[in-house]
Amino acid sequence: MALRQVRVLGDDILSKRSKEVKEITPRLRELIDDMFDVLYDSNGVGLAAVQVGVLKRIIVIDISEDHSERRVLINPRILESSGEQTGMEGCLSVPGKQGQVTRPNYVKVVYLDENMEEQEIEGNEVLARCLCHELDHLDGHTYVEKVEGELVDAEQEE
Ligand code: ZN
Repeated sequence: MALRQVRVLGDDILSKRSKEVKEITPRLRELIDDMFDVLYDSNGVGLAAVQVGVLKRIIVIDISEDHSERRVLINPRILESSGEQTGMEGCLSVPGKQGQVTRPNYVKVVYLDENMEEQEIEGNEVLARCLCHELDHLDGHTYVEKVEGELVDAEQEE
């Protein structure tokens, strides 16, 4: 099975706004499966469709160690955010690097699931950071725009 190629910083597509998903199609289901393959293959915690070259408002996340918290968020929007956290962040589109970014410590996000049913998710700390990072991708932003100080070489961690 060939993995979809991850677009890396410098690729114009990463600065483009992704489009709303109107309906779920077999092609989008395949895309979502492929996104999880890429995510798990690279030990990431989140991936936006634009990172594999598709400008659709879809993100997949799983912050668990054992791939047990697979979540698909379609057309996600932040409803509430509060607090602040500062920590290291990395991105599959910025291989080998990480940087310090300040994010809300809590977010509540409304989204559509794979069946196009509305859901909400609340997240603190790592999950809040991951949601904010992935939602930024949908609007053409990467964390490097928000890095405080310099990008540094990553240990391995995403
Ligand atoms: Zn990223």
